Amino acid sequence: MINLTAKQICAVVNGELFASSSFQDFTVSEIITDSRTFFGGSNAAFFALTGPVFNGHNYIAQLRKKGVQVFIVSNKNFIEDKACYILVKNTGFALQQLAAYNRNRFLQPVIGITGSNGKTIIKEWLYDLLSTELKIVRSPKSYNSQVGVPLSALLIDNQYDLALLEAGISEPGEMQKLAPIVQPDIGILTNIGDAHQENFTSMEEKLNEKLKLFTGTKKLVFRSDRSYSKIIAEFCSQKNIDPINWSLENDSAPIQFKSKVKSTDTEIEARINDKHYSFTIPFTDDSALENACHCFATLIALDKNPSDFLVQFSSLQPVAMRLEIKQGINNCLLINDYYNSDLNSLSIALSVLKQQAAKSHLFKHVILSDIQQTGIETAKLYAKVNQLLQEWGINKLTGIGKDLYQHQHIFQLESEFYADRNAFEKHFLRSNYSSSAILLKGARQFELEKISALLQQKAHQTVLEINLNALVHNLNTFRKLLQPETKIMVMVKAFSYGSGDVEIAQLLQHQNVDYLAVAVADEGVQLRNAGITTPIVVMNPEQDSFQNIIDFSLEPNIYSFQLLQQFVKAVKEFGLNNFPIHIKIDTGMNRLGLKTEEDIAKVIAILKKNKHLKIQSVFSHLAGSDEPELDDFTKEQFNRFTDLSGLIENAFEYKIDKHILNSAGIERFPDHQMDMVRLGIGLYGISQTGLALQQISTLKTTVSQVKTVDTGETVGYNRKGKVRQHSRVAVVPMGYADGINRRLGNGLGSAFVNGQEARMIGNVCMDMLMLDVTNLEVNPGDSVEIFGPNISISRVAQLLETIPYEILTGISQRVKRVYLQE
Ligand SMILES: *Cc1c(COP(=O)(O)O)cnc(C)c1O
Repeated sequence: MINLTAKQICAVVNGELFASSSFQDFTVSEIITDSRTFFGGSNAAFFALTGPVFNGHNYIAQLRKKGVQVFIVSNKNFIEDKACYILVKNTGFALQQLAAYNRNRFLQPVIGITGSNGKTIIKEWLYDLLSTELKIVRSPKSYNSQVGVPLSALLIDNQYDLALLEAGISEPGEMQKLAPIVQPDIGILTNIGDAHQENFTSMEEKLNEKLKLFTGTKKLVFRSDRSYSKIIAEFCSQKNIDPINWSLENDSAPIQFKSKVKSTDTEIEARINDKHYSFTIPFTDDSALENACHCFATLIALDKNPSDFLVQFSSLQPVAMRLEIKQGINNCLLINDYYNSDLNSLSIALSVLKQQAAKSHLFKHVILSDIQQTGIETAKLYAKVNQLLQEWGINKLTGIGKDLYQHQHIFQLESEFYADRNAFEKHFLRSNYSSSAILLKGARQFELEKISALLQQKAHQTVLEINLNALVHNLNTFRKLLQPETKIMVMVKAFSYGSGDVEIAQLLQHQNVDYLAVAVADEGVQLRNAGITTPIVVMNPEQDSFQNIIDFSLEPNIYSFQLLQQFVKAVKEFGLNNFPIHIKIDTGMNRLGLKTEEDIAKVIAILKKNKHLKIQSVFSHLAGSDEPELDDFTKEQFNRFTDLSGLIENAFEYKIDKHILNSAGIERFPDHQMDMVRLGIGLYGISQTGLALQQISTLKTTVSQVKTVDTGETVGYNRKGKVRQHSRVAVVPMGYADGINRRLGNGLGSAFVNGQEARMIGNVCMDMLMLDVTNLEVNPGDSVEIFGPNISISRVAQLLETIPYEILTGISQRVKRVYLQE
């Protein structure tokens, strides 16, 4: 980690220093940009990054309380006495400048990795292969963004022998900013797929953008049998780069690989000139093969003797890219993060643990393995870990590994220690774990996944996996259609369209959306109890929920004169003033809302002489924003809304927000965004116009049993599944009680198993369904996708002649929601 004085940092970023002289020589040894994952310590400097969503400046006060004293800011108004401020034009750019400066001080080789897929896996595998002989610093997790790359480069210092940095881009112009920070000596270009293609005019443009990373590189590793490989080869010869290209197809490539897939692994043979090397990897898929070939070629680029590494290839492990949250035994919640183990990722994981525990008032328990190769002296390291655990209010620590065992006296919280995982398992008692949020965090060699297996609830293996990163992507995709000042209300009714409630709301709150909207007050109460402070609108406020609405600061949708009278009365009894309400106008849907001028006049009359309520917004809902044939009607709705909302607007002196667009409306009529929009289905990944949204949910389970069925036999209830040939049938533990529509049975619906689709055979049962897997290689325990990356929700909806909304919200609550977050 860097060690610079505030004055030096100021010089590197061309800033203006606001600090008393005592601060100027203050040493900074840690850079932070995210207040949530800051774990205390007094030598940190905070970069107040700003973006369309975030304003880091808002967190300065909070961080000063936590002991941070150096702030890099772009807004003068936040500068105060008694801390050190460095004023710059653009804090993001300043962060990149500092990172580039730090990179330049590093004299050992840097490997820079970019491409559409495989970056993180290759980085982790190279780390596994090389870390026995080299001290390596690498990007945490998949920190490869405009902020992630600088933060990774700032971890570098001269105690390391090698740095592995990944760089990802999604738009033109981004690599130019990352290249000076990475400045790789050796480059790896993994492949060019269609990720983020929407932002580029052609594949070639995207490739050229990625190649900018390698302008000053000495050697470049790439696969030479792709349609675009020629361009890379030309780039190498122009820039005087030594090409380390390899091929699985071409016998004249400098490095040639041949592969043979066995039942659980792949045998690979490499040929370089007249030398042959054989090794295996414990994977059978094409992308693992390609990643392994990249790693092998990188060893050549590093002038290593491949023979020294061949055995290690056979123990490469799958890389869990994300933190995983699962239901555990006895009302426990498991947070699995055994991807890597360093202080940085520990504090990120602890922040997730705290959030998750808070929402159900769970005990906070950390199961941690030894943290290795941090470059920090062991006693100091664990003192820091102890401090971290205290700061995040952790209730109990279970330490696993020799180092932790030896340093157990350092820890000042309830704790237990085991020299290794076996010792832990010997003492393991299920009944010792209940109502806890448990973080499992450690280096891969400790195999904490085996502990996770002991703690995991196994009864029902069917899960709805929600990708929180995809959700943020979708939110930002819609944001791009809006003016910066347009507010966003996100509809989280019906458990966030079936995606689970609290987790989604928490994420949205963190993303600074302006409002959340629920259908009924109970849903709002649940969010408040989980610590949501974002304003919440209740679309259908019932009279007996007024007490809750007032107690929990929810904001009712007032859709009729009668409801207004009742609500005024309730608020008056509580003696409250200016209680926020939202008024709904019916412009043609003929559902809830004030429909006529007379209705509106009556409402205005009451509100005019009433100090108890304040109109926050006036809105209406479109009946057919997704249907081009109804556009004339939609336009009538717009006009009617302008007229009726104008009556209200003109009657009051204060500003009242107006809004009418739902997701399809935002996509198709952005000109009518007014003061706010109401985002629903789009956030959850469904677009009406082919917007590049990501699917956020995957409904999946595992095969229970596979059996052979002969011609003439039948499958399932009422003998509906007639078998016409000698067949194999997979039984899957998911049925209509889980929300699988029974009409999908008997060949209408299908599921994705082992890379192929298999049709449902026979009737769907309450808790099970059967798949025809006659020509597929399927075994018990194999993963089955009902919808997700391979089978879209829209397609399932089409088969059932319904809309995606019904599919999403129909997944029953007994299906566990599992959240993935990078
Ligand atoms: C559900 C709902 C929305 C969101 O609609 P989508 O089509 O899912 O974007 C917007 N406004 C109101 C009043 C709603 O009830």
